[in-house]
Amino acid sequence: MQYAEVLVDVANRRLDQLFYYQIPATLNVKAGMRVLVLLHYRQVQGIVLRITEVLPENLKGHNVKNLLSVVEDATVIPEDLLDLALWMAETTISPIAQSLHTVWPLMKGKVEDWVVPIASKEDEDVQTIKLLDPEIYQGFAALFRARQKSLPLKLFLKRSGFTLEKVEDLTKQGWLRIESRFTSGVPSGRKLSSSKQMDNTEFSSSKEYLNKSIVDEHGRQRPPLTEEQVKVCQEIKKALANKVHKTILLHGVTGSGKTEVYHKVITEVIDQGNTAILLVPEISLTSQMSYFFQQEFGEHMILLHSSLKSSAKAKAWQDILDGKIKLVIGARSAVFAPLPNLKLIILDEEHEGAYKQDENPKYHARDVARRRMEQFQGIVLLGSATPSLETYAAAQSGKIGFTKMEHRVAHRPLPPVEIVDMREEMMKGNRSMFSMALQSRLRLRLEQKEQSMLFLNRRGYSTFVNCRECGYVVRCPSCDVALTYHSQGQVMRCHYCNHEEVPPHSCPECGSRYIRFFGQGTQRVEEELQGLFPKAKILRLDWDTTRSQEGYQQILSVFRKQEADILVGTQMMAKGLDFPNVTLVGVIAADQLLNMPDFRARERAFQLLTQVAGRAGRSDKPGEVIIQTYTPEDRSIVLASHHDYPRFFWEEIKYRKERLYPPYTHVIRVLLLHEKEERVIRAAQSLAGYLQIGIDKSEEANDKVTILGPAPAVLSRIKDKFRWQLVVKGKRLDKLRAFLHQGVQKYALDSSSQGVQLNIEVDPLSVG
Ligand code: ADP
Ligand code: ZN
Ligand code: ZN
Repeated sequence: MQYAEVLVDVANRRLDQLFYYQIPATLNVKAGMRVLVLLHYRQVQGIVLRITEVLPENLKGHNVKNLLSVVEDATVIPEDLLDLALWMAETTISPIAQSLHTVWPLMKGKVEDWVVPIASKEDEDVQTIKLLDPEIYQGFAALFRARQKSLPLKLFLKRSGFTLEKVEDLTKQGWLRIESRFTSGVPSGRKLSSSKQMDNTEFSSSKEYLNKSIVDEHGRQRPPLTEEQVKVCQEIKKALANKVHKTILLHGVTGSGKTEVYHKVITEVIDQGNTAILLVPEISLTSQMSYFFQQEFGEHMILLHSSLKSSAKAKAWQDILDGKIKLVIGARSAVFAPLPNLKLIILDEEHEGAYKQDENPKYHARDVARRRMEQFQGIVLLGSATPSLETYAAAQSGKIGFTKMEHRVAHRPLPPVEIVDMREEMMKGNRSMFSMALQSRLRLRLEQKEQSMLFLNRRGYSTFVNCRECGYVVRCPSCDVALTYHSQGQVMRCHYCNHEEVPPHSCPECGSRYIRFFGQGTQRVEEELQGLFPKAKILRLDWDTTRSQEGYQQILSVFRKQEADILVGTQMMAKGLDFPNVTLVGVIAADQLLNMPDFRARERAFQLLTQVAGRAGRSDKPGEVIIQTYTPEDRSIVLASHHDYPRFFWEEIKYRKERLYPPYTHVIRVLLLHEKEERVIRAAQSLAGYLQIGIDKSEEANDKVTILGPAPAVLSRIKDKFRWQLVVKGKRLDKLRAFLHQGVQKYALDSSSQGVQLNIEVDPLSVG
């Protein structure tokens, strides 16, 4: 006897439960199919997750219902993706339905009640009704006329003129049936089919595009590879030929030409009839990257991003499933692209935090990529000039492959970096936010008609409003964070909930008139800069000027055309941008990066400084970098100025080891949220209690699991919700997860959990 394990009503998160149904011999049921089943006397749709011959213990001997039918015309989810969803639910400790939604976004849709007639038009009974009760018959006729011989309940009420009570009556009398159906984002008339094997003949022979000389953005021919590039490509090719899963780190300094390497290995993979995914940390970078590949792969390449309309997404998905697409480029979620014969997933700038999803399920694209390549026996290529400590550690210990490029192409030097101690500037009487060194270098660039980039941590950072007499800081009434002053519109804004208010003229606390705007937002940098260099053309690239993708692209394109001299921006411009005429990069205040309450702050500071510095001198013109700071001795600043990643790694990893931070330990962070603080505290305590029980049961001295908290999170209140957290630490991740699974299950049954939002994050990027 065969049974189907069915996830019911996947659009409804409350029902994250698996049900078992017997498969009638007449039905051909496979995993991934959408089926109709009976649940509490209602017919509902579900997805078959697995087919099994054994029932779980608690169902043995029970009467298991039959599966009713297979929903025709619905897409069958490929088995590798089903498996991926189950794996993700397990590893991120989240509901299966939620993971399935993430893996298979076509399911994002709604469940609707549909009205289905039980009798057919020709039935005698129906003919009788036609004579006896023409009004009711009119209602039935609306259903018979409908293309699917059934209608959504809402539409049916409109067309028939029936009340809901009447429909219910007719249902009880056995004339009609109400069925909940799932409506996907697929445009009507378009039928999704399951993945086909790829047809290699469809894709014109690769040799054609290999030999074709490629002209890049600047009208140049694609260059022959450098020695280092050739060596790295060979190593990756060798790994590909082995046909076993492998993850490889490509550590290549900024400007070493990693993109050309990606291009080469992608071409290789496609040549062999396989497919690839190239991930970039941010959608804004996709267009630059896709331009590079578009000319070559044309319609065989597709760009996936979250702003695609659902119809466009459905079409993209269909083309991918059909094997028309060989290369998918996109941000984080593109890692789920259902490509058949997937052999290569590349993560460019693998250290970027954007690869971690900050909503549930909180997956990391790197882990998902690895899982997928295990399934397909392919290669994960992680590229970065500043790999995450975890990745580099894995490469050093031989857990993953390692290859590197230590030189920029064409023997261009890495730019010299000068560290300026801002405390000394202050002592010399320079109260400007620009050191004398930076000012003179900027002036030189303006004279030489070269471009400069000035970098700040984030939009309007630290531009808080503060009383100089009593120290009062204006905070958001709903979130526990300082408001940020924006001179545009002269308002203060909360960066978490967007609350806005006008700055006070006097201190609300002590009445003093010395209430001031502190810090240097991008706007203030721009203003002061314009004052220093009235003739300079200055552009600003930050969250405020680039709310839309077009805004972002427009600013970059003006700068690229050299119609502006200086680009002032936030960290978004640190990533991947390549402007040949930029010869000066300035960091206004490196300290902001370091002052975050987070064990990864120094790692991030190093990464950002290195990336930012890497924007200078990328063409024939040599570049230079100035870093302004109040802590010039910090190792992240000193070593970034020497472009010395390995040394930074070894010093930082020592520090992590001493303090038992990741990768020496694993952390699961549980965040609880509710409007009432007592409720959060009670829930947090109860969860901590259940977790503790699990830990006490299996105490092994050398493998301790510890629970920190419950304690208020660093951001203790956001959008009127109190936030408390528990941090669970331990050496073995599988064990930690098991604790969490059991603890959460018990906690969910406890009354204290009711209504309290629960957020679980495995190996969070920050514990703040
Ligand atoms: P990375 O991503 O490693 O920082 P890029 O891939 O952006 O570096 O390459 C840096 C610059 O070098 C780009 O302008 C690119 O066009 C150029 N480049 C890459 N490979 C070569 C090569 N083999 N010969 C000449 N120029 C190259
Ligand atoms: Zn005051
Ligand atoms: Zn707020």
